[in-house]
Amino acid sequence: IRVYANPIKGHQNENMGGIVTMLDITNIKKLEQMRTEFVSNVSHELKTPLTSIRGFIDTLKDGAVNDPEVAGKFLDIIDIEAERLSRLINEILQLSEIESMKQDRNIEDVFLKPVIDEVFSILQQSAEERKVGLHADIAESVSIQANKDKIKQLLINLIDNAIKYNIENGSVTVKAEQAGGKVLISVRDTGIGIEKEYLDRIFERFYRVDRGRSSELGGTGLGLSIVKHIVNLYQGRIDVDSDPGKGTEFKIEIPD
Ligand code: ADP
Repeated sequence: IRVYANPIKGHQNENMGGIVTMLDITNIKKLEQMRTEFVSNVSHELKTPLTSIRGFIDTLKDGAVNDPEVAGKFLDIIDIEAERLSRLINEILQLSEIESMKQDRNIEDVFLKPVIDEVFSILQQSAEERKVGLHADIAESVSIQANKDKIKQLLINLIDNAIKYNIENGSVTVKAEQAGGKVLISVRDTGIGIEKEYLDRIFERFYRVDRGRSSELGGTGLGLSIVKHIVNLYQGRIDVDSDPGKGTEFKIEIPD
């Protein structure tokens, strides 16, 4: 609590009383702390690929550039790290844009079936590479009042994860139904699953259960926090059930 005291003076500067203001700054402090933490996480996450890029450039300049085979490998790494940097910046901007919105004014009727078809075609190649089957079970009539790009982003993030953290010959099933003023969306996979102790943390920014695996797959740790913020923006809720070694199901409920 912060306390401010100010005297009230009369015409002749005589004391007439005072005003005491008490301000509860717990929330302000908490927000400040979260912001500081976020900035330091962001700096760290951005520095990692940058440090690697500069390291490989230095090595190239020191002579590796004269060995075409080595130089080719280093350039590939620089390329991958630059790509990662650009994905990070893109997702940080997306997250801060969604976070700053109190309400989405740019909404329309979004029919989920065509959006999911679109998302499947975007992720088709990555699913084929990992031999993961994509299945959808959605009636043509299911729709919500939302911004189409945000719903598409939400589905891309969830389905991309369901492919990435899957096993060979695994599958991803997306279902959506509309009832009682709500749309229920389920994204279920037959992948590696998530241990119970980590379930609470996966929506945190930059949190990854297995940092190594996520990095290898090009993950940033921001996908699910973007999903959560989109769901919150539309007054919805998201739940996750997981059976380690068997698979994971994300369930979203959004008022239609
Ligand atoms: P990332 O970019 O690392 O995929 P996300 O925010 O999308 O970041 O997810 C956070 C972490 O949650 C992932 O690193 C992974 O450990 C875990 N995770 C997310 N989705 C799944 C899933 N479908 N199956 C297993 N683990 C998952």
